[in-house]
Amino acid sequence: LSVNEYLRQHIRTVPDWPAPGVQFRDITPLLQDPKVFRVLIDAFVHRYMDKALRPDVVAGLDARGFILGAVVAYELNVGFVPIRKKGKLPFTTVEETYELEYGSATVELHTDAVKAGDRVLLIDDLIATGGTMMAGKKLLEKLGATVTEGAAIVDLPELGGSQRLRESGLQLYTLVD
Ligand code: 5GP
Repeated sequence: LSVNEYLRQHIRTVPDWPAPGVQFRDITPLLQDPKVFRVLIDAFVHRYMDKALRPDVVAGLDARGFILGAVVAYELNVGFVPIRKKGKLPFTTVEETYELEYGSATVELHTDAVKAGDRVLLIDDLIATGGTMMAGKKLLEKLGATVTEGAAIVDLPELGGSQRLRESGLQLYTLVD
């Protein structure tokens, strides 16, 4: 069994959540089982231990990106910074608003979270339309940092988000399609 297939088998699909017609890919079973959690985290850690891909900082997207990003950063012995939904960060921030299917969302990052020239690994649990990860990339770039790679457990390629992100010049690494 490949790592990818092993992880895929532990993703739970919840129909009609959070709205009718949506098939939500629930990654909490991956975190709950210690053996699966280790395989998951090690898949990222092994990749980013590599000298060419080792970041200066890991940035995690609210909220499941915090769980993954914090553990990966700890293992890489680099810092972790949170990109949060608007209104949660106490210090001065940069912000980025992006369109959702209905309405819009705003994410924020502390202005001292990264330095110009930092190489940042941007991490979340899942890429759907790609809007969240694109907003995170823009925030980091506003502060002069470079996003060396975007990482997620799951890509939903039929939504076109990962393709759009790649076309924008972001290198991506995902474990399960
Ligand atoms: P996007 O911005 O790419 O359209 O949506 C991705 C964001 O929404 C991520 O932050 C992700 O956590 C959340 N998301 C959207 N759909 C799902 C899903 O089916 N499963 C999970 N776990 N997260 C989702």
